[in-house]
Amino acid sequence: MALVTISGFPCSGKTTRARELAADFERRAAVAVASGSSGSNFTIVVVDDEGSHVTRSAYDDSRAEKPARASLFTAATRSLNPSTITIVDSANYIKGFRYQLYCAAREAGVRVATVRIAAPPGKCKEWHDARSEEDKYAQETFDNLIQRYEEPSSMVRWDSPLFTVPWDEDLPADQIWAAATTGVKKAPTAAA
Ligand code: ADP
Ligand code: MG
Repeated sequence: MALVTISGFPCSGKTTRARELAADFERRAAVAVASGSSGSNFTIVVVDDEGSHVTRSAYDDSRAEKPARASLFTAATRSLNPSTITIVDSANYIKGFRYQLYCAAREAGVRVATVRIAAPPGKCKEWHDARSEEDKYAQETFDNLIQRYEEPSSMVRWDSPLFTVPWDEDLPADQIWAAATTGVKKAPTAAA
């Protein structure tokens, strides 16, 4: 049904928001099915680093990061189908990677939406410092992930529709739900 790509700095609240969104979608899906407004049951799947066997240290160097991204991509792609809303909870900080995800969604004929979790680096650092040691990134990796972050843009088709969620504001769940369920379907085309 849809691919929802979460993107943001390390420790910006992506997982917190992805879970909130998934729980919200579960409720809406249950209501839609119960009221008969949905043709069939559909499921909400969260694809994340952990479930794709991507460790925090995978981001320490690009040699380790490539297979990690490939593993996340495979997990996300497998989940794309007409009856599933797939939420990809990862940094997704590379423009080219978001483009790849978009192309996979188009191939699967599902809708897309990008949700950028926006927290200033200082906030992310504060939250990161409060994390337990085993949950932390190496300091250099943390700084790198912020520095190399390629901000999503609503001007490019693979990032749009784009929802930017400031860290201290509510998730625009109504709008994201609308994009995922009634937004434009990405019809497969010959020219990728
Ligand atoms: P990410 O998935 O981007 O690494 P998390 O969702 O795991 O980020 O959040 C990192 C830390 O920041 C957590 O300890 C969480 O409690 C805290 N946090 C995240 N978002 C907020 C927020 N909006 N307000 C307060 N604390 C937050
Ligand atoms: Mg996370």
